[in-house]
Amino acid sequence: MAASCQTVAETIADVLKRRPVLEPVLRFFEPVLIAQADVAAGLTRALRASAPRLPEFDPERARQGASLLAGVPLTGAASAMRRSAKKLLPLLAGLEAMKTHVPALEAFFLKPARKGAQDRRELLAEAVVSGDAGVFERLGGQGGLEPALLEFVTGLVLAPVLRAMTARIPAVEGEAPWDAGNVWRQGYCPVCGSLPSMGWFDKPALEEKNAFLVSGGGKKHLHCGLCGADWKFRRGACPACGKEGGVMELLRESGPAQGERLDWCTSCKAYCPTVDLRERESRPNLDALALGMMHLDMVAADKKLHPLKPSFWNRF
Ligand SMILES: [Zn+2]
Ligand SMILES: [Zn+2]
Repeated sequence: MAASCQTVAETIADVLKRRPVLEPVLRFFEPVLIAQADVAAGLTRALRASAPRLPEFDPERARQGASLLAGVPLTGAASAMRRSAKKLLPLLAGLEAMKTHVPALEAFFLKPARKGAQDRRELLAEAVVSGDAGVFERLGGQGGLEPALLEFVTGLVLAPVLRAMTARIPAVEGEAPWDAGNVWRQGYCPVCGSLPSMGWFDKPALEEKNAFLVSGGGKKHLHCGLCGADWKFRRGACPACGKEGGVMELLRESGPAQGERLDWCTSCKAYCPTVDLRERESRPNLDALALGMMHLDMVAADKKLHPLKPSFWNRF
């Protein structure tokens, strides 16, 4: 994303001018999103040498659909996860569904690992990336936590750590390496393999090489709510089932919507909140905007559509 991107607080303030009814929910989750962004920024500056590093981007592997983190151990992630959990867990205590589980969650994320055993935080982090549900069942059972809740909170705690890692991936000719040469064709994230939390269409931009040429804009990108990566994707294709050609429909409010809508697939019924930046002045913080579009999540639920990537405000 460009540097001129709005902060979480600016994006939420903008949404509230248009949808004051969402105020209580947005005000509750705002500190969580702000804390995640702060932790990610702090870690980007200070990620220890012992923290896991992403392997170098390999276009050939990417062409075959392998995310950068697929099969990569996250040894060394524990201390960064602890730092993240220390800031985030107290904020979750205000959520009714979480309150009683906070002590058990603290035991997972704040306590040091037992000598000789692999750190549970790293096992959990690897399970988020690989999608290995068995790990959450086993560890959740041991710690008295529902597997779905443990998985969810692990994602929340891990996100800033992955973002700090993703932020260090060097660009290739001004583009993310997976966008250069269009090597990445998947609907899931090229870095962590997660499904996207938002889609966005870019604005026309002045060409860097020739200031008189304006490129058309309107290219579709997907955004990963877990590691923060963005990647180009084919406009008419469904990121969930991969079908193409006439399957994607839009759901938008009547009246001015600032480019906000849901893109949903008539074949598999998955939807992804999407924003067309050509219809707005500023670039919103995409994680905050996904929250600010929760009124559309409710419309989608009525239509029996399901979110491509469930978020904490529509799950717990
Ligand atoms: Zn990702
Ligand atoms: Zn689909």
